[in-house]
Amino acid sequence: MVQKVYVTYNDVHKLCKESAQRILDDFKPELIIAIGGGGYIPARILRSFLKQPNGKNISIQAIGLSLYENLGTGEPEEAPGTEVVRLQWLDFSSEAINHLIGKNILIVDEVDDTRTTLQYAVQELEKDVQEQSRKLGRSEKTNFSIFVLHNKDKEKRGTLPEEIVNSRYLAARTTKDVWLCYPWEAVDIEEHDRLAAQQGEDSL
Ligand code: 5GP
Repeated sequence: MVQKVYVTYNDVHKLCKESAQRILDDFKPELIIAIGGGGYIPARILRSFLKQPNGKNISIQAIGLSLYENLGTGEPEEAPGTEVVRLQWLDFSSEAINHLIGKNILIVDEVDDTRTTLQYAVQELEKDVQEQSRKLGRSEKTNFSIFVLHNKDKEKRGTLPEEIVNSRYLAARTTKDVWLCYPWEAVDIEEHDRLAAQQGEDSL
């Protein structure tokens, strides 16, 4: 049985708050791409902390990715998926997408587990942006960086470009290989918060 660790809305808020300055200094994001569903709420909270006095809010684009298991019927914490399925993607036929070219783009997700999803997101976004740049004859470099609330310290199935791993990747917390229960998945939020309060500080 995998150990469960309960994460509250306040925990998420504080992890975004404490990471914001490093994100501003190191990645200088001009646009956020949130990976749904887990990246949506962290992305929105983070945006408030990234806003500069008198500056504009950074816009958030959303992509929806899901990991599907080829075999088996287990609970997600018992049997993580292996195949990424696109549920929602950026609309590269629209003019608005050209604003991505040459920008510093921050990809936000809640957790880096096997890294399969992040590998897929980076690979596919880089490919699509390059293709769009080529079509438009533009040569500016688009830089992707990554923010996650939690990175599980384990062998990863997916890989990321070295440039990202070395200098454009931030996890607010590195955890053991536990199952993180996020508040937006809770059916009974009072019970969720109660379990979180019970588990103590050093549960990660
Ligand atoms: P990865 O592709 O890194 O294996 O996993 C990515 C997705 O699997 C996450 O975005 C999330 O939806 C799900 N996932 C992996 N580990 C956890 C976890 O500990 N808790 C929750 N709630 N979801 C997880």
